Order: sequence, then structure tokens, then C-alpha cells
Amino acid sequence: MQRREFLGTLAAVPFVPGLVRGQPRGAPRVNGARLNAQLAQFDAIGRTASGINRVAYADADLAGRRFTLDLFRAAGLAPVVDAAGNIVARVEGSSPGRPPIIIGSHVDSVTDGGNYDGPVGSFGAIEVARTLREQNLRLRHPLEVVVWQNEEGGTIGSKLAIGALTDDGLDRRARSGFTLREGLARIGGDPSRLAGVVRPPGSIAGYFELHIEQGGVLEQRGRQVGVVEGIVGLRWLEVTVTGTANHAGATPMDQRQDAVLAAAKFTVAVNDLVRAEPGRQVATVGRVVPSPNTTNIIAGSVLLTVDLRDLDATKLARLTAAFERAGAEVGRATGTTFAFVRTVDSDPAPATPAMMAHVEAAASALGCTTLTMPSGAGHDAQELARIGPMGMIFIPSVGGVSHSPKEYSRPEDITRGADVLLHAVLGLDRIAGR
Ligand SMILES: [Zn+2]
Repeated sequence: MQRREFLGTLAAVPFVPGLVRGQPRGAPRVNGARLNAQLAQFDAIGRTASGINRVAYADADLAGRRFTLDLFRAAGLAPVVDAAGNIVARVEGSSPGRPPIIIGSHVDSVTDGGNYDGPVGSFGAIEVARTLREQNLRLRHPLEVVVWQNEEGGTIGSKLAIGALTDDGLDRRARSGFTLREGLARIGGDPSRLAGVVRPPGSIAGYFELHIEQGGVLEQRGRQVGVVEGIVGLRWLEVTVTGTANHAGATPMDQRQDAVLAAAKFTVAVNDLVRAEPGRQVATVGRVVPSPNTTNIIAGSVLLTVDLRDLDATKLARLTAAFERAGAEVGRATGTTFAFVRTVDSDPAPATPAMMAHVEAAASALGCTTLTMPSGAGHDAQELARIGPMGMIFIPSVGGVSHSPKEYSRPEDITRGADVLLHAVLGLDRIAGR
């Protein structure tokens, strides 16, 4: 009772951390040693000779989730596994009726991955909630710490949480060999109650996710914190180039319909088109499969893929059309035909400017150098962005490596990221719904 009263008194006064730019004296800080020790312990779960293997629903993922549930409890939180299989813990705010601030990430991994993609943001969020509790800092908003299930298999838990994936989409097989439905049952979810966990648009005050960059931009630019301006949209094109298979010796050069030559010219054209305009758009021809793929035969056909990413949906559409025109032109010049099929089409998810401002303000108050940057990889934050304000915090990945056992982020960067998350939450709590 006494404790409640004390918290109530504290919460009645707007929280002023007393920050002076670059001089964070008296500002609350997370326990970085504790956070990094937890990550080091977690490294043993699912560790194999070829890397971390905690793919969703496999035994090691279940072990990782048990470890994570214990961390929640050690932090004084009361976690529940909801119908979507997400681990959720809620701390009520001092001001009734406000929507929650949500922080979190994931703990599942890719095959042969590393220990930082996901756990940094998940354990960082738990540490932030623990710090608030230990320092008797009660937010006005409810705070929900969420560990989303199966991020690496296509942001499954966060899609379920916003209603973008429903019961009829659960028969797809996950990397572990279980279907999503079987996986959900393995982790304590309940497909029959999914509708009950859907968060409608406008139901959250904001979502922050701390994550490793997974690229080398922060390191190369010598910056400590990435203020993410959005998660890029993704287009995948499957392109079939059709020519005529023929003898490599007997066919004169001017009588060929060479599909490999056409595919090569097209690959150069994609690169030229993407580089011809300013911006950070990227496109990759990553898979090229000629047929018959033999030394002494001119290829009759080639299957190739294009992966195109940018924050701007209109640019994605414009470049896709330009690639199709380039295919037609190369086809005319080489006597081949180009057919395009769009296999993946995901919209960009821009961060909310006010949420970016909270991250920027938190970082600068803590004396961190920042860089505003897009995320080239997908995250649960892209799903949460569909229902409310979203912001992401990146910390450097050493060597720009991720989805690899070589993935590494320095303890001081992890601590700094969690401190920025803490202060971004405090900033949003002060401003939102005023
Ligand atoms: Zn991740």
C-alpha cells in the first residue's frame, strides 16, 4: 500500500529527468551489465557448431522462450502467452484510460544465425521496464513489453496481433517443419481465440523497437545510434527470358537468340536504372538460372529474380515499370522475350515523425551521436506501424554482419541503445495524449 501511494504521488508530478544536453546527470539509466550478462547466457541456447539455431517452434525456440519468461519474472513483470503466442507483460499507468506504449522485439532466429538479432531489443525492453520499476518511475500510460513470436518466418506474431494474419493463413509450414498452427500450439497460443488479441488501429500510444542495424552504415559513419525513418518496401520480380537454345559452335553470332546474353544486359540495365536517380533505393539480381546451363549450348531460357527496396512506394512502382520497359528493349535487341511475375509486394512502413523525434531527443540528451536512416530489413515494427505511431532505434553491427554466427554488437552499444529506448519511452509518455 505504501509503495502504491508513493508511486501515485510521483506520477502526479510530470516526470522531469533533469537532462541537460550532453550532461545526463541524474538521468535514469538501465543496468547495462545485467542486460549484457543476460545476452551472454542466452547465447548458449540453440548454439550449434554452425551458429545460433532457434528457428520458431523448434525445441531451442521453446527453450529460448522459457528463458525469456524467466527474465520477465525476474524483472518483476507478470508475463502471459496470448492466443497469438506472443509473450506480453503489462504494467498499468497512473492515468486511467490511456492506450499502452508498447516496446519489444523477438527471440527466434534464422538458421545458423547470431545471438543479437532480436534478443537485444527483447531483453532491452524487459530491462527498461525493470529499470522503471526499480527506480519507482511510474508512467502515465500502461507499458506493455512484448516478445513477438516467429519474426524471422515473416513477422507472424505481430501480423496476428494486428489482424493481418488470421486462422486461414496458419497452414503454411515454418522453417522448423511445423505448420504455423502446430507451432502456435507448441508455444502456448490458441488459434480459436485469435480474434481476441487483435489490436485495432488507434489502440496504442506508440511502439518502439530497439534492434541491431544488421548493416554497416552506423559503423562506417562512426555514429552510435540509428534513428530509423522507416522500413523499406520490397518488390520481388521473377523474370523469365526466352530465347532459342542452339549449338554453341554451329550458330553464327548474328543468328542467335541468346537468353544469357539478354539476362546479362538486363542485369546491367537494372543496376543503371537504380543508380540513375538520387536516393537510397537498392535493386539486386540475385538468382540467375539458365537452361540448359551447359558449356556448349546457347541458353534457350533464363529465370532471374529482382529484389527492389525503398522507403517510397511511388519510386518502387516507377522503377518496376522501368525494369519492364528495359526488358522489352533488351528483348528487341537480342531476339528474346521477357515475362515478369511479381512474387512479393510489401509496402514501405514509414516511422512516425514524432516517434523519430523522441528517439532523437533521447539520444541527444544522453550525448549519443545519431544518424537518420532507413531499415533495409523487415521487423515487427513494420506491422505495428499499421495501427499506430512507430519508432525504431538501431545500434551498430560490427562489420555490418547479421544472420550469421559472426553477428556481434558491443556491450556498450547495447547498453546505450537500451538507455535511448528508456528515454524515448519517457519522452513519449510525457507528450502523448496531452
Ligand atoms: Zn530481428
